[in-house]
Amino acid sequence: MTVNSKKNLQPAVFLDRDGTINEDIGYMDSAEKLRLYPYAGSAIRQLNKLGFKVIVVTNQSGIARGYFEEARVPETHQRMDQLLALENARIDTYYYCPHHPEGKVAAFRQVCDCRKPAPGMLQVAAREHDIDLSASFMIGDKYSDIGAGHRLGLTTILLETGEGLQQYQEKKDNPSLPQPDHISSNLLSAIEWIARQSIG
Ligand SMILES: [Mg+2]
Ligand SMILES: [Zn+2]
Repeated sequence: MTVNSKKNLQPAVFLDRDGTINEDIGYMDSAEKLRLYPYAGSAIRQLNKLGFKVIVVTNQSGIARGYFEEARVPETHQRMDQLLALENARIDTYYYCPHHPEGKVAAFRQVCDCRKPAPGMLQVAAREHDIDLSASFMIGDKYSDIGAGHRLGLTTILLETGEGLQQYQEKKDNPSLPQPDHISSNLLSAIEWIARQSIG
């Protein structure tokens, strides 16, 4: 192995946003509406301590649908950073997909490779942040989250928060859908499960 053939790769935990870290209120058109789940800071702080990169990957088709301006997304993430910092928790980076194939806004109306369950956001993140995908996890409340992680061989966790419980009931017997590796009641219990896997 040459020096350049493999960089120092790090494991990551990829997190969906709405229904995973914060209450899913539909389309998040204002940072003011952001409400973290009460355990989110504690959960993400534990990930920081465990040495995982913490990367948010979120579908924001409200941009393509014309429900809100793209600028609302970084504002919301800035607010999330502020709220998490109060609890000494840190998200390393955020990726979002602004697209939708039937969006009203022409600039964002497209079939893309980043809207989950497509794995594009995770692939770009892995390149930009030297992530070891085989040692990484994907956590979300929808089967689209599970699908994106599954495509790249991540360990996938479906939460019962947000739409998770309903999605599980509707899709658990669907043989055409990849099923989660694990189901957790919420983000905190998912992180506790990851911590146990890491210890071995
Ligand atoms: Mg979600
Ligand atoms: Zn996209």
